[in-house]
Amino acid sequence: MSTDQNEYVATLPLLLTEVEVRRVDGVSPSFVRIELGGSALAEFGVDGPVHDQRIKVIFPNAAGNLPDFTGADESWWTSWMEIPEDERGSMRTYTVRDVLGEGADTRLVVDIVTHAHHGPDADGHGDALDGAGNAWAQQAAVGQRLVLMAPRRGHDFGGIEWAPGQATRLLLVGDETALPAIRGILRDLPADASGAAFVEVPVDGDVSSDVTMPNDVTLTWLPRNGAARGEALHAAVLAHLTGEAPTEALTVADDEIDPDLWETPVYSSSGEAVAEATAVPTGQAPYAGLYAWIAGESRVVTGLRRKLVNDLGLDRKQVAFMGYWREGVSMRS
Ligand SMILES: Cc1cc2nc3c(=O)[nH]c(=O)nc-3n(C[C@H](O)[C@H](O)[C@H](O)COP(=O)(O)OP(=O)(O)OC[C@H]3O[C@@H](n4cnc5c(N)ncnc54)[C@H](O)[C@@H]3O)c2cc1C
Repeated sequence: MSTDQNEYVATLPLLLTEVEVRRVDGVSPSFVRIELGGSALAEFGVDGPVHDQRIKVIFPNAAGNLPDFTGADESWWTSWMEIPEDERGSMRTYTVRDVLGEGADTRLVVDIVTHAHHGPDADGHGDALDGAGNAWAQQAAVGQRLVLMAPRRGHDFGGIEWAPGQATRLLLVGDETALPAIRGILRDLPADASGAAFVEVPVDGDVSSDVTMPNDVTLTWLPRNGAARGEALHAAVLAHLTGEAPTEALTVADDEIDPDLWETPVYSSSGEAVAEATAVPTGQAPYAGLYAWIAGESRVVTGLRRKLVNDLGLDRKQVAFMGYWREGVSMRS
């Protein structure tokens, strides 16, 4: 692939460009932090704060090769999908943790969760047991190259779900994959924001002091340390909303989980009709004025959705529920 990325990014309203790994840090037991750079990133830009901006990364195929998007136009996706799956590289979704530098020295920082071997995937694919993103992160080194799909300044890319409107109380909930997004949202909040954030991480060593937030926002870390995924998150969020610890553990049947779970005040993956977003989330007392953003493993998010919407009666318009990944399923594109 050409190293002069600018010659073809200009044809697309987004960045679809090869980038170089400029730095790799094993920041904590479950996260590898990578810094991606390249002259095309001079064109990176979001209209406003980055919040939970998502991006796509294409990891090399087994032979170490990346797809060549030189001269790509609007048909790039169709052309890429026509390449046999084991040759085209693997696309996964991540969050922009930070943007460093400027101009041709712009770098995007991404925190990748590393996860252990999980046995055969539920979707029947045996080739991605460890996950392309996970496997790549565990061997990441400066100088390696990836393909990045990211917002191009001046063009609508989407990918920011944080939309609290005029909410008076905020609730952020997520697991380790949502930590980069929650951190970005907290960093970009106005100084007078108030609310609470709950983040479940694999182990104590993943708790980080590198999070900034307004004075009236609290952040609660919930290291699992071997406990069941979502258990602590479920208990803490329900106690926060109701003032009482739940008496039952979270149980969600397989057929209750929407594999593409993505529900925001303005979109529903289930096709459910969605009303227009309101400036101030309405909802019934005691939840009037609350806006909740919840992301992580789909079973856990599904369980929280059931509790918040069905049991506590939160209005769908005041909550964003996002399945960032699903246990036992490879998130291949
Ligand atoms: C909007 C959005 C933003 C995201 N931001 C980030 C981010 O900043 N950092 C980040 O690390 N992830 C993030 N994710 C989640 C990430 O895309 C998924 O975890 C993805 O499955 C990782 O791909 P993989 O190749 O490692 O594993 P896959 O090939 O997708 O899956 C292989 C196996 O690994 C399991 N698996 C996948 N992820 C995990 C995990 N975290 N823990 C345990 N097992 C897992 C799967 O269940 C499957 O059994 C984001 C997802 C979305 C939708």
